[in-house]
Amino acid sequence: MIVGVPREVKSDEYRVAMLPVGAEELTRAGHRVLVEQGAGLESGISDEQYAVHGAEILSSPEEVFSQAELIVKVKEPQADEWPLLREGQMFFTYLHFAADEELTREVLDTGVTALAYETLRGVKGDLPCLTPMSEVAGRMSIQEGAKYLERPHQGRGVLLGGVPGVAPAHIVVLGGGIVGKNAARIAAGFQADVVLMDINIERLRYLEDIMPANVNTLFSDRHNIREQLQRADLVIGAVLIPGAKAPNLVSAEDLKIMKSGAVVVDVCIDQGGCFETSRPTTHSEPTYVVDSIVHYCVTNMPGAVGRTSTYALCNVTLPYIREIANKGLQSACDRVPGIIEAVNMHRRCVTNQAVAETFGLSY
Ligand code: NAD
Repeated sequence: MIVGVPREVKSDEYRVAMLPVGAEELTRAGHRVLVEQGAGLESGISDEQYAVHGAEILSSPEEVFSQAELIVKVKEPQADEWPLLREGQMFFTYLHFAADEELTREVLDTGVTALAYETLRGVKGDLPCLTPMSEVAGRMSIQEGAKYLERPHQGRGVLLGGVPGVAPAHIVVLGGGIVGKNAARIAAGFQADVVLMDINIERLRYLEDIMPANVNTLFSDRHNIREQLQRADLVIGAVLIPGAKAPNLVSAEDLKIMKSGAVVVDVCIDQGGCFETSRPTTHSEPTYVVDSIVHYCVTNMPGAVGRTSTYALCNVTLPYIREIANKGLQSACDRVPGIIEAVNMHRRCVTNQAVAETFGLSY
């Protein structure tokens, strides 16, 4: 199979979808790997490192897209890339269709087979290709929140850990999945006062067992959320209903009960966000202020730490890329059933129920 690795073109995206070791493994198995010139540079990987391990370096995205049977990428196709997608081609990347109707309709129209990292299921029903980026984003959410709580960034001027005699910051994490767990752990390390909320009581039991003493768990309902918002210096949005738009947990009206200069980091913005006032931002302009609350809503947080994120992502995607390249999509789905969950579009049909329902498309 011919596997293509284009350079990422989304604003401030510094990751790449394959490591030199991936090129080596695929070419050793008899496949061709086409890497766009400079694709790995922002993650610290040179064209020579790919070439020495068997990849062919091509100078333009057109050359990669026009030849590859399987395109592997990091972010959803950008408008400039839509015309490059070919009927019948497989496209394996983060897609997050439910958050973007125009993207969904444009990609559907191209006739590609769209495979989403974020809906691929592992053997335990987990989401193995989402996990590493959620780990990165969860850890990063506290580091970003700490920065924007500083007064020069329009925050309240609160230090996460406080100091002896001065209370630490109160941090509320909505959603106790991978993002939430990682956020809470790092926040606890900063010695903040942390509340971790979820609707899954079993999950809360588990989190209660493993978290340090300065993390308390709380059931996520409307009353508890509003009570926590009043106390919060920093709120992390980390909920997920797989494939669907994020539930709206904090309304525009709710911001009025929060402290002036509090910060919200809406990590689940890639699924539409869980604050009514969230709108996607980029690393170049990450924040905006609504009712004196600083909003950080970057859709590709891990992109900023490309050297960590590229390795974390490629470690988990390569086994699936190898399986699809070696066996073809049909056999790969038979052998590794979770792969079929990744197929969001095939032959101009939406094959993911949540995406179809979100936009009233046939499924
Ligand atoms: P996850 O499935 O591990 O966790 C989600 C949690 O949300 C679950 O425990 C679930 O029970 C909980 N939940 C659902 N509804 C809830 C509610 N009403 N109140 C409280 N909790 C609720 O998912 P994850 O891997 O932690 O990812 C969370 C989100 O972060 C996803 O939307 C993911 O796409 C996003 N994400 C964004 C970035 C970024 O760069 N912005 C990076 C990585 C992940």
